[in-house]
Amino acid sequence: MFFDTHCHLNFHAFEGGTEKILTRAAAAGVTEIVIPGTDLETSQKAIDIAQKFSGCYAAVGIHPHHISMYLERPEALEKDISNIEKLLAEDKVVAVGEIGLDRHVYRISKHGPDITVSPEYFALQLRALSLQMHLAIKHSKSVIIHNRESADDLLQFFDNLSQSDQKALENRVVLHCCESDDRLLDLAIRHSFFIGVDGDVTYDPKKQDFIRRVPLSRLVLETDAPYILPEPVRSEKRQPNHPVFIPLIAAKVAEILEVSVDEVASQTTANAHTLYHLP
Ligand SMILES: [Zn+2]
Repeated sequence: MFFDTHCHLNFHAFEGGTEKILTRAAAAGVTEIVIPGTDLETSQKAIDIAQKFSGCYAAVGIHPHHISMYLERPEALEKDISNIEKLLAEDKVVAVGEIGLDRHVYRISKHGPDITVSPEYFALQLRALSLQMHLAIKHSKSVIIHNRESADDLLQFFDNLSQSDQKALENRVVLHCCESDDRLLDLAIRHSFFIGVDGDVTYDPKKQDFIRRVPLSRLVLETDAPYILPEPVRSEKRQPNHPVFIPLIAAKVAEILEVSVDEVASQTTANAHTLYHLP
């Protein structure tokens, strides 16, 4: 059995098709899925899906991309994060996420062209990360971390947390779609975090090299569907990514780590249960 620890069934790409997607996934052995929110609306949608379907769980949070919308009204950020806190009380919410830091300049974005990361924008991302991280600690929830080109800041952020906060986060954090950076692996090992591996491991030599160094005991599988299609379906360009493709990622990980696919499945599923505190 496989666990897709990060899949956006709450996004428009999957509108109306949830039941079919879950049936297809289950037939491939993918029986548990965590659905991360990226703003208030998609967080609520993640909860709605999780409460309707067995094996589905929700994460709620405001993604760094969405923080750009608070630049002109920073006071609204606190209000929306307090609404995220209310959502944490809902049934089947296992984590805060996805939250984090992103310095990448996106050339095409639904929020407009060339979103540059000004010092004000990045400071607001850090503030949102800190507020939401402390919600997770306060309510004993897990955390899904998005990081892109901000490893230095993320390392500093975690190292600056108090000892008791660091302790509370042990086995509670996943570095989602972890960048191929040995300092992030070192962070994960020092703090007992998990490393999320996605479809890019099927074609990116740098990612393959990185995953070779990650102990299986720290690894969880994720599709990040509808994004990051794995090979060979990626070359066909026929469909968005689906949780049904988790076994393709597992097979590549098994090949890289020179273990059986069964071992990858059972260990990463056990890791996901530890991460999200599920029985
Ligand atoms: Zn995601």
